[in-house]
Amino acid sequence: MKILVINSGSSSLKYQLIDMENESVLAKGLCERIGIEHSNFIYKAHGQTIEQEVEMPNHNTAVRLVLNKLTDKKVGVISSMDEIDGVGHRVVASGEAFKKPTLVTPRSMELMEEIKDLAPLHNPAAIIGVNACLAEMPNTPMVLVFDTCFHFTMPDYAYMYAIDYSHYEKYKIRRYGAHGTSHKFVAQEAAKYLGKDIKDLKIITCHLGNGSSITAIKGGQCIDTSMGFTPLAGVPMGTRSGDIDYSAAEFLAKKEGMDVAQMLKYLNKKCGVLGVSGVSSDFRDLTDAADAGNSRAELALNMFTYNTKKYIGAYAAALNGVDVIVFTAGIGENDNLVRRKSLKDLDYLGVKLDDSKNDSCPRGVISEIQAADSKVKVLVVPTNEELVIARETMLEAKLG
Ligand code: ADP
Repeated sequence: MKILVINSGSSSLKYQLIDMENESVLAKGLCERIGIEHSNFIYKAHGQTIEQEVEMPNHNTAVRLVLNKLTDKKVGVISSMDEIDGVGHRVVASGEAFKKPTLVTPRSMELMEEIKDLAPLHNPAAIIGVNACLAEMPNTPMVLVFDTCFHFTMPDYAYMYAIDYSHYEKYKIRRYGAHGTSHKFVAQEAAKYLGKDIKDLKIITCHLGNGSSITAIKGGQCIDTSMGFTPLAGVPMGTRSGDIDYSAAEFLAKKEGMDVAQMLKYLNKKCGVLGVSGVSSDFRDLTDAADAGNSRAELALNMFTYNTKKYIGAYAAALNGVDVIVFTAGIGENDNLVRRKSLKDLDYLGVKLDDSKNDSCPRGVISEIQAADSKVKVLVVPTNEELVIARETMLEAKLG
């Protein structure tokens, strides 16, 4: 059983072919600059990486290129396209139209069109990706897997904004959250690792990457999450502001002569740790700069870790305690300083880190980094969103 996972951006397409017998990655890669000059194609298989500049005027060409490589006599990993049993498509926003992974049908694609404006940068790209795959593999079952679905178990008082209720009803303006596949995966992995039934655990998962979100999980179900209607809310991120008083945005827009679209672009692309530090959105650069005495880089790091800690505290309150805190994604898995600062002075909650375990935590495997007398387990769990998408695709398409 082999599942192709597709993550389409407006000018990019990431792919992975996963053998579900042993959940191993047979091949993966990236098509970049689709529809732009100097398109780039990356293909990794058999421990080798092939990188080529190939013309990719649209997503259809990109998909064809991927399929040609996967079935290539020399570097391919399957003998024909028929070996692909299903395709899972990552979709950023579901609105309230989709509450679970959904098979691609004419009706579900109509609904996708209707909710396009919920994530104008991402959802239209997913539609293009699905159509490009359908053109090449019309008889292969395909499933839409949404970043938001895991968060649909939030109670109404957690997902509602305090706005005129009729506007929620009319426009479905509410908290949807993001990174759902990652939060779900790492929570399940943590429970498995600890040999516990997830139903008995209160878990706080910190997905800290370019985009960062924190989620409270009770008995395996999300009860609250830090991102909101879009992935702009929550902790400050690489380039995103995170939570901000809207009046401050209006004040700034007037002073700088920005309209709403320009303001949103500013809040998404020019703020976060990049805006505060003036150095970089990348935490490796920030740490280097802070170590070299750059006080604004240090401020940006302090803001990020302080806000992460505030969410952990808030979610411990929402959960009535916490058994496990999980760190994942680029920063969560790799940045020992961020983990240490985010968990500083949480001993009243029963959280105590073992600094040497935290500092020497190996990459790519699950590690326990709490002190021997910590009541709360602290785990670093590598995320794998593609694998979750492949698993959901198998389930929804009733494969296997
Ligand atoms: P995305 O949200 O794009 O999936 P990732 O989860 O890959 O992002 O995280 C990317 C971020 O992780 C980078 O911008 C960088 O700040 C951080 N990162 C990656 N490796 C390290 C590392 N070794 N140390 C500290 N930060 C890291």
